[in-house]
Amino acid sequence: MTATAISGRTRLCAVYGDPVEHSLSPAMHNAAYAALGLDCAYAAFHVAPERLREAIRAIPALGMLGVNLTVPHKERALRMMAHLSDEARLLAAVNCVINRAGELHGDNTDARGLEADLRENRVDLNDRTAIIVGAGGAAPSAVLACIRMGAARIVICNRTVDRANRLARRFARHVARRGGGPPRETIEARGLSALTDSATIGAAALIVNATPMGLKTGGFAPLAYAATAAACMFYDMVYAREPTPFLAPALALGRRALDGAGMLANQGELAFELFNGVKPPAGLMRRTLMERLGRT
Ligand code: NAP
Repeated sequence: MTATAISGRTRLCAVYGDPVEHSLSPAMHNAAYAALGLDCAYAAFHVAPERLREAIRAIPALGMLGVNLTVPHKERALRMMAHLSDEARLLAAVNCVINRAGELHGDNTDARGLEADLRENRVDLNDRTAIIVGAGGAAPSAVLACIRMGAARIVICNRTVDRANRLARRFARHVARRGGGPPRETIEARGLSALTDSATIGAAALIVNATPMGLKTGGFAPLAYAATAAACMFYDMVYAREPTPFLAPALALGRRALDGAGMLANQGELAFELFNGVKPPAGLMRRTLMERLGRT
C-alpha cells in the first residue's frame, strides 16, 4: 500500500524492534495486503526497550490488529499480555501480539516457522541427534522444533554453560510432563568447545545456529566441520544476502545449508493469519522476501 492509499479506515499492524530498520516484514505483509485488497498497512517502529510498555499499550489504543516483536523485546513482553498461548509460555517469549477486542494475546510462531522450513527441506530428525548453538531468545524455539520432529538427542551448546543448563532443564521438565511413558529424547547442555568434539559433531543430523555470532565482527566459533556426516544439515537462524560465517565452511564442504529466510517467511505467514483471520496468498510473502534478498 502506498501512503496515498492509506485512509481513515486503514487498520495498522507493525513490527517493534531495536534495531528494526533492516526488517523485511513490512515488504512481506504489505505485498499480501495489496494482493488481497485489504485496507490494512504494516509498518516498522523503532522501539527502545524502556519504551516497550508504552508501545504495547498503544496497540489497543490505536486499534491496531497486531504487532510482531523482534530483538530485544520478545522476553520482556511476556508479562505485558492479558493472555498467553501455551507455546509462548513454554518458549518464555512472545513474537506475535494479537489485539482481540482490546485484549492482548501473546503467541510465538518461531518454533512452528522453523519446523515447517526444516520439513519443507526434508530434514529427518526421527531418532537422530540435533545440536543447537545458543541458549538465548531464539534457542528454545529450535529445541521445541527438534522435539516435535522426533529427535532422540538434543545437545544445547552455549558460551555461558549455565544458561544452556537452565534451558535443558526447562525442556526436560516439559517432556516429562507430556506423559505417555519415559521421555524418548535426552536434552544435554554443553559449552561451545563441544563443537570441536568430533564424536558429538559427527552424530548430528542437524546443527542450528541460534546466536548472532559472526553477524557484525569476528567469525563463528571453532567447529569441526569436516567431522560432520555428509547428510548433516546446517541451519542458521540469521539470514543475509551472502552465506553467513556459520554456513560458508559447511557449503565449501558440500554440506546442506539453509539460512533463516524460510523460517522468517513461514512465521510471517502465520502472523498474517493471526492478525487478519485470513491466510495470505500461497507463497507470496516468501517470494517477496526472496526478491528483497536478491534470490530470484
Ligand atoms: P539473543 O538472545 O541476543 O542471542 C543470545 C545468544 O547468542 C546467547 O546464547 C549468547 O550466548 C549467544 N552469543 C551472542 N554473542 C555471542 C558471541 N560473541 N559468542 C558466543 N555466543 C554469543 O538473540 P536471539 O533472539 O536468540 O536470536 C539469535 C539470532 O537468531 C538473531 O540473529 C536473530 O535475528 C535470529 N532469529 C531469526 C529468526 C528468523 O525468523 N529467521 C527468528 C528468531 C531469531 P551467552 O548466553 O553466553 O550470552
